[in-house]
Amino acid sequence: MVKPEDDCPEIELQEVSFAYGEETILSRISFTVPKRGFTGLIGPNGSGKTTLLKCLDKTLTPTAGRILLAGKDLMQIDLKTLARMVGVVPQQWEVDFAFSVWEIVMMGRYPFLSPFARESREDRAIGRAAMEATNTLAFADRPVTELSGGERQRVLVAQALAQKPELLLLDEPTSHLDINHTLELCELLKKLQRSENLTILAVFHDLNLAARYCDQLVLLNEGKVYACGAPEQVLSTENLEAVFGVRVRLRPETETGRPTIIFLPKTEPEVES
Ligand code: ADP
Repeated sequence: MVKPEDDCPEIELQEVSFAYGEETILSRISFTVPKRGFTGLIGPNGSGKTTLLKCLDKTLTPTAGRILLAGKDLMQIDLKTLARMVGVVPQQWEVDFAFSVWEIVMMGRYPFLSPFARESREDRAIGRAAMEATNTLAFADRPVTELSGGERQRVLVAQALAQKPELLLLDEPTSHLDINHTLELCELLKKLQRSENLTILAVFHDLNLAARYCDQLVLLNEGKVYACGAPEQVLSTENLEAVFGVRVRLRPETETGRPTIIFLPKTEPEVES
């Protein structure tokens, strides 16, 4: 039997606005993120993607509107409970101290520990499983300062998974990775989405990656939702031209039917007379 809480989306934004002082950054944003789906947040630089993620993890408080997380008002969820529900993988990751990979991953268990309590055998088993899932166990003892960009990013995902979240928020998770590590991370996320029953909301810079891996896309422009839906609906030539100011040609990928975007020169090539 379907539980009632399974009926509601993982995230529901109702007319959410945010302003820094007088400057409106997000304006009446409404959309839902289905449970166990992979949703991509796309839009030009400065359109409000990071600000929106920060509203979802309570780093920022909306100036108007309401956010529901698994049917509960985000304002009513305390930070410790939130940390058990939501794992966040940031875009930039600067670590000055040479924590080991294992220590970093186990920090994901902090929301579950009582003050001054040591991690239990179960906590360690969860940390280990998170590392196995992300293929990071092999370098558990290495200092994180010595890892490559791709390895670090997987460690961050492992730390988030150690929180046993139902929702994973990622801010341009592949922005510092080469193409090989980018694809590896996207495949990993897709696999985890299924194996861990995760809901994923990720900011994507690369529209072709977003088209390939996401079930739903939300296109932001100037702090508003310009389009929301399946990749083939959102990534239309009209939307891309209007929002990004680029000329494109679309081709469905043969395997998946998802759109592949071919970016055309800004101006038509001159025809020789
Ligand atoms: P995106 O992630 O889509 O590039 P952001 O959410 O980072 O966009 O930024 C949206 C807008 O908010 C930008 O115009 C940016 O300059 C502004 N902004 C971001 N952070 C601050 C801040 N701390 N104070 C004032 N304005 C900010």
